[in-house]
Amino acid sequence: MKELVWFRNDLRVADNPALTAACKQNNGVQACFVVTPRQWQEHDWSPARVQFVIAHANALAEDLAALGIPLTLIQAQTFDDSVEKLEQFCREQGIVRLHFNEEYGINERRRDKRLKQRLDELGVNVCKYRDQTVAPVGAVLTQQEEPYSVFTPFSRRWKAWIEENQPVVLPRPASQGAAIKPEKLTDIPDAFREAPTPLVETGETAAHQQLETFLEESAGRYKEDRDFPAIDGTSQLSPYLANGVLSGRQCLLAAREAQGGGGNQEGYVTWISEIAWRDFYINILYHYPRISMHRAFKPETEALKWNEPGDAFEAWKTGNTGIPVVDAAMRQLNKTGWMHNRLRMIAAMFLTKNLFIDWRLGEAYFMSKLVDGFLASNNGGWQWSASTGTDAAPYFRVFNPTTQSERFDPKGLFIRQWVPELAKLDNKRIHDPGKGGVIPGGYPRPIVDLKESRKEAIAKFQALKD
Ligand code: FAD
Repeated sequence: MKELVWFRNDLRVADNPALTAACKQNNGVQACFVVTPRQWQEHDWSPARVQFVIAHANALAEDLAALGIPLTLIQAQTFDDSVEKLEQFCREQGIVRLHFNEEYGINERRRDKRLKQRLDELGVNVCKYRDQTVAPVGAVLTQQEEPYSVFTPFSRRWKAWIEENQPVVLPRPASQGAAIKPEKLTDIPDAFREAPTPLVETGETAAHQQLETFLEESAGRYKEDRDFPAIDGTSQLSPYLANGVLSGRQCLLAAREAQGGGGNQEGYVTWISEIAWRDFYINILYHYPRISMHRAFKPETEALKWNEPGDAFEAWKTGNTGIPVVDAAMRQLNKTGWMHNRLRMIAAMFLTKNLFIDWRLGEAYFMSKLVDGFLASNNGGWQWSASTGTDAAPYFRVFNPTTQSERFDPKGLFIRQWVPELAKLDNKRIHDPGKGGVIPGGYPRPIVDLKESRKEAIAKFQALKD
């Protein structure tokens, strides 16, 4: 077998350009996945995400084995080590071509460049594919051929690109030989053993079922429901998308098909825009490598003097700030490895504006807990909330978490679920328990004055301008 497919952030068989291209060579295909626990630890991967990835690498091994393609699990510690081990593997197996779908973080790009140099010397052809987004990364540009840094014009051009190019999904490749027994990873590295109960079922089939159910049952109401955390109004497909078990193209085309079948059109259109957000942030990561290096998109905001994290950061992380909606959100994150989008914005703005703590700390904490941790979207979301990013919320627009809570969790259903200390409060007091009464036992007073801290944050941003 001379063709090798290296699976990374694309743990699926269907609609996989690297796998499809390798199979077309009729040269015998094998696959590999590199297990890099130290790299994962150094980059704040959460146990939930590591367990998700391992379960899906195993599921992929099974799917590939049924097609007669063996998947080898290569153990390496870091990216440098991956390069060594992959080179060795290619040499030992007599590989003529290595196929993979591109990743856009700076470390991944450096690793791939080093590997290509080494394989060029060995005479192994490296074939790369642009798979991670609906329109290939770099294809959606301004008229001046520049990258977009604002979402709305990007999404307009993105939609036009789709109409002009009509993307398709690639079918599952045909069998490459008799079915074989898959190799499986049974050992979870020590650092990642303690993880929440999995949020979603394992495997490509389960991912497609979830997509189908969402499109049939909820997408029509997505526009109305998506901001209410107590309603199951969003798809919860993010762990699959973040790790490539589903592709953006598959989601887009399935949504368009469902949309054609009737129902509330606006729901589908709004949901498709979320896929555009994902593509937007991946493009930002690609065009502005400083994003991967923990730098602000807006360089002038590097001058902000953030507060020392201290006890306030601990209270935020553990869900004990005395602001019920923030605490409910953080407790959901800690317990399940997932957080609703509206709450991600509220929790991130509270940390960066009211507590004035560096967005980088929040970004890393989210990464260390999220099952869908994805550098491009996590960084994009954090920098948006902190007003240091691309399409950032203007610095003077600071969410008031209490008002957000009254608006998006009017009966306090979400808060009651995650902050049981407050469950007996009425629909008004639950958003602001300190107001007009005794705070129920054990629940903290707000650690910060929302109005004062908002004013101070705005003044600090204003000072940058002056
Ligand atoms: P749906 O509403 O069903 O949306 C469908 C898909 O579109 C999502 O699965 C996701 O892939 C994509 N999407 C939706 N909203 C966004 C968005 N604002 N930006 C980019 N893509 C989006 N998303 C991640 O996948 N990984 C992260 O690490 C991540 N961190 C975030 C951090 C912050 C501070 C913020 C504000 C947002 C973050 N997001 C992240 C984006 C968004 O919150 C999640 O994608 C969404 O909540 C996932 O739930 P869902 O699958 O039900 O989404």
